[in-house]
Amino acid sequence: MAQIDIRAGLSNEELDAHWMPFTGNRHFKSEPRLFVSAEGMHYTTADGRSVLDGFSGLWCSNAGHGRKEIADAVAQQLTALDYSPAFQFGHPLAFKLARRLADIAPGDLNRVFFCNSGSEAADTALKIARAYWRVAGRPEKNRLVGRAQGYHGVNFGGISVGGMVGNRKTFGPALDVDHLPHTLLPENAFSRGLPEHGGTDMAERLMDIINLQGAENIAAVMVEPFAGSAGVILPPKGYLQRLREICDQHHILLIFDEVITGFGRTGSAFAAQEFGVQPDIMTTAKGISNGAVPLGAVFVREGIYDAFMQGPEHIPELAHGYTYSAHPVACAAAMATLDIYERENLFARVRELAPHFEDALHGLKDERHVIDIRNYGLAGAVQLQPRDGEPGKRAMEVVLEAYRRGVLLRWTGDTIAVAPPFIIQPEQIDQIAQTLSEILHSLD
Ligand code: PMP
Repeated sequence: MAQIDIRAGLSNEELDAHWMPFTGNRHFKSEPRLFVSAEGMHYTTADGRSVLDGFSGLWCSNAGHGRKEIADAVAQQLTALDYSPAFQFGHPLAFKLARRLADIAPGDLNRVFFCNSGSEAADTALKIARAYWRVAGRPEKNRLVGRAQGYHGVNFGGISVGGMVGNRKTFGPALDVDHLPHTLLPENAFSRGLPEHGGTDMAERLMDIINLQGAENIAAVMVEPFAGSAGVILPPKGYLQRLREICDQHHILLIFDEVITGFGRTGSAFAAQEFGVQPDIMTTAKGISNGAVPLGAVFVREGIYDAFMQGPEHIPELAHGYTYSAHPVACAAAMATLDIYERENLFARVRELAPHFEDALHGLKDERHVIDIRNYGLAGAVQLQPRDGEPGKRAMEVVLEAYRRGVLLRWTGDTIAVAPPFIIQPEQIDQIAQTLSEILHSLD
């Protein structure tokens, strides 16, 4: 029998060298969890086990793994045009992709600024919002509003507007941002889909911030349509609509971070369409390229873009960009990804699977330690009662045990999050729920 080696032959020196992001490095390195290949719904681990991907990698492999169409497009692009300078020169595919994205974007979010990640998209969006008010002759509109438990990546703008204090507190002063409260209300526990209660009231809290800071000083409000990283915190009915109304009344831009919710997770291309609320700026990443090649994109309303198009024509209208903005290889991967979404009708498949997914998750309602279950589209969360004095540990144990039993999930705080690729089969949804049920049954 072949030697089972969960370390894939890595030496201690090699394990030590890679400082892993958002990971307890010592914990991980004492018992590494290594993937060596992936196809369809499954990863293969270093010790040769097959693991069902219940999390689309990290909310990104929406069309499943090892998609040949993407691999071929990337390979072809690498030989045809491996890199093209991002500034002052272009390549046709970037424009074609931007136009194609505009075609599926909500409303007139028809101008697309490319970057490489959700974090870059967040900081790009915040900078565009501030710069917009300057070109619009309102330079005092600088302030930004975020939301408690929000996640907008890890760059300085994103951690400031984001509401995960743990991601901010070790890095010194952040931007001075006001935060709305999150929308996780006890009266909405175990809601199926969008919660009923508190939407308008929670949105109305934006008025407190406006009254405190003055609308004349506020550039933008940034929220995720549903907060993914914090454990699928959904907007109660009417919440996003009311935020939109208040922003309109007070001339404040509304930015949706659709890094997780975009590209089909809710059953529509974007949550803005699913929930019927139009943002002024929208950030995306992850599913845009099926996670295969890093890519982010910021969508901007035509009127905002137009406001920038003034002054001497040879001067950049926005002093911002990345060496790898609209990287040809990333654009090729995104084109192939969009082809797959379209050809396989994968967003509609999310809508079809959502009721089964909802039933499977809510079937865990009576398991031990479960204090809430939330779901929308193919995103779900099972929240556990934390063990006394050990916040976050119980959910971690569940996820590590699920991995041992062949299912990849994710823990965040005391919540287990589930977000499978859209190609998942109903039986595989059942397998995820069954695995969770068995683990919760025997966990103290
Ligand atoms: N925004 C949201 C809503 C996210 O969920 C994430 C990543 N989970 C990001 C931004 C950051 O994306 P990235 O890790 O690609 O920088």
